[in-house]
Amino acid sequence: MTKAIVVGSGPNGLAAAVTLARSGVEVTVLEGAGTVGGGTRSSELTVPGVVHDECSGFHPLAVSNAFSDFIDLSDHGLEWAWPEVQYAHPLARGAGAAAWQDIGETARHLQDDGQMWKRIFGPLANRFPDIQQDFLRPMLHVPIHPLKLAHFGGFAGPPASWLSRVWKTEEARALFAGVAAHSFRPLNALASSAIGVALGTAAHTYGWPVAKNGSQSIANAMVGALETLGGHVETGMRVQSLSELPKADIIMFDTGPAAAARIAGDALPPRISRALKRYRHGPAAFVVNFAVEGGIPWTYAPARRAGTVHVGGSFREIAAAEQLINRGRMPEHPFVLLGQQYLADPSRSAGDVHPIDAYAHVPAGFDGDATDAIERQIERFAPGFRGRIIARHVKDVAEVESTNANYVGGDIVTGANSAMQLLFRPRVSASPYSLGRPGLFLCSAATPPGAGAHGMCGYNAAGAALAELSGTSSL
Ligand SMILES: Cc1cc2nc3c(=O)[nH]c(=O)nc-3n(C[C@H](O)[C@H](O)[C@H](O)COP(=O)(O)OP(=O)(O)OC[C@H]3O[C@@H](n4cnc5c(N)ncnc54)[C@H](O)[C@@H]3O)c2cc1C
Repeated sequence: MTKAIVVGSGPNGLAAAVTLARSGVEVTVLEGAGTVGGGTRSSELTVPGVVHDECSGFHPLAVSNAFSDFIDLSDHGLEWAWPEVQYAHPLARGAGAAAWQDIGETARHLQDDGQMWKRIFGPLANRFPDIQQDFLRPMLHVPIHPLKLAHFGGFAGPPASWLSRVWKTEEARALFAGVAAHSFRPLNALASSAIGVALGTAAHTYGWPVAKNGSQSIANAMVGALETLGGHVETGMRVQSLSELPKADIIMFDTGPAAAARIAGDALPPRISRALKRYRHGPAAFVVNFAVEGGIPWTYAPARRAGTVHVGGSFREIAAAEQLINRGRMPEHPFVLLGQQYLADPSRSAGDVHPIDAYAHVPAGFDGDATDAIERQIERFAPGFRGRIIARHVKDVAEVESTNANYVGGDIVTGANSAMQLLFRPRVSASPYSLGRPGLFLCSAATPPGAGAHGMCGYNAAGAALAELSGTSSL
């Protein structure tokens, strides 16, 4: 029987494991941490009964994709839940903007810019199920829907600062800035619109759902599926070298590229090892989880009903903050992403005490404390917030990295989203998952299509491994 070892149990490692196991491969997953799930872990970080997502909270790209078509995780307990408002963006003096899954509702609230929001995101949202078949794969492939992909590329390619000029109001421009800034890129950089356009479109197609009972349910469902297929996971097994691993036909690394190169050592062709070590990481996240009594008193009312709140003010303010972190400087007013998952999934709260999961964008390797800056940013748009905090759990950048080796320097998206690395990651190659030696593959978010708990990197990498075994092409 063909045997595979997967190093790392993040959503991509587990998706690769499930895909291989379902194709008849005997799979063992080795996880360095004490629990499974990588960036999909959840736990009671602040007070008993209040469940926080330690990393991923919202899953617009996981609801419907080739991996979710391949295996139905609802059979293993995964349930999605949607907030009423997908994401909101408070501004000064109680103003703001918000995105509903219903684009018409979004447009009505955007008033003067509503028609333009609809004109851009409406056609993209209608075509998104087809478009994502192309962009959730390596870029070097024959497109299935070339015209739809080209249409998407027309909006994804420019800097966010250019695209934002189509809107006249501060509200619409800020709404787009918040979603574009998920890329951790300067908003005037080439292709800095790409992630904003993808996530913004996904909001009107699939919404931004949370996993019921916490994102840990995503990992648990994948482990359940894997075990049904005869595979298993061993935790507390940090892999340092290939020589520690049992004999296997396929070794799949759910790790950063440089870590894979270190672990594989001389087994890799030197030019590939060098390319993996040159892979660039981006800025960092400073994470604070709060237990908040009565929820956050946002002045902008739709933010009180939103799963995600982008806290950073106007387009100009967010652009300035993102510019600074990319230059290695800490902004006074950082961009903060804040999750109110409990609004979609009330089971995560204990009575009237609710989990709030927030992180600020900070420079790579930032060694300061951003807790106060995060709280000040929230307080700006929700006066009284600080008085409602019951408990907080702070994960500084060093701890972000030490709890998950893939987050090099605190980079939670496993690689800078430069135009080059958006197109080609972890290196320029028609087989980005291959490590250049038969049987060795990379499957983490450092491979296409990149970050997010959607499992598509792992699914694609497993496809590449199975194609190699059968002597066919996976593209
Ligand atoms: C604060 C935060 C918020 C986020 N928000 C979202 C969100 O809302 N939506 C979304 O889709 N994504 C979000 N993400 C990103 C998402 O979590 C990641 O992109 C995703 O988890 C990447 O999956 P992965 O399988 O590639 O790697 P990871 O999830 O990072 O998992 C890698 C696993 O491999 C293990 N490992 C590494 N090296 C070794 C080794 N040598 N030996 C054994 N095990 C090893 C690690 O311990 C880890 O468990 C967020 C991340 C963070 C940190």
